[in-house]
Amino acid sequence: MSTIAEALRRIQDRIAQAATAAGRSPDSITLVAVSKTHPSESVLEALAAGQVVFGENRVQEAEQKFPALRPAHPLLRLHLIGALQTNKARQAVRVADIIESLDRPKLAASLAEAISREGQKPRMLIQVNIGREPQKAGIDPDAVEDFLGLCRETHGLDVEGLMCIPPAEGDPTPHFRTMAAMAARLGLKTLSMGMSGDFETAIAEGATHVRVGTAIFGHRPYPAG
Ligand SMILES: *Cc1c(COP(=O)(O)O)cnc(C)c1O
Repeated sequence: MSTIAEALRRIQDRIAQAATAAGRSPDSITLVAVSKTHPSESVLEALAAGQVVFGENRVQEAEQKFPALRPAHPLLRLHLIGALQTNKARQAVRVADIIESLDRPKLAASLAEAISREGQKPRMLIQVNIGREPQKAGIDPDAVEDFLGLCRETHGLDVEGLMCIPPAEGDPTPHFRTMAAMAARLGLKTLSMGMSGDFETAIAEGATHVRVGTAIFGHRPYPAG
């Protein structure tokens, strides 16, 4: 068994344990294997081990790796999880099944236009700047409800949930808890939160998707930009 396959099994075990401890079904949590910076060979190893949901943070890298894998792997699903420039909206709509980084009105408009031109309609998550960090992307927590209305009513986007990256320092628990309360209040079913260092905490607080890179694929060979 490859080390990627072993790592996937360990992570799935930890997900199942965290879910059970929280009184949740392990099936209610989807592991998004974040393969950014890692080569297609690593993605293929993960696919061979049964992993079908992947995350990439750059459109160009996603285009280089994923369309070629789809014919042989029809269950493959790709999540875009990184900052998205409006001039990449059309490529993003073509390459992704879910865009997790819907983070500003201008991007919502560009994605709506791209969807109408491409005839493909990825599902979307609104990225929330849960720690209100000035350097970080995402909608201010107080503005999420209005932004959700804009995305759905003005742009017809298929928004099904929320995503966040909590502050690097400090306990993420209160941030995860606020996210879960917000998703429940807005009737949103998908909650993407938790990475290699904190996915068990995120599951305890209600994450439906955890985005794990390093703990599966090892350290990234170069910074992910
Ligand atoms: C890179 C990345 C991850 C994965 O982080 P790890 O610490 O390697 O698990 C998760 N979410 C986002 C948005 C990322 O950019």
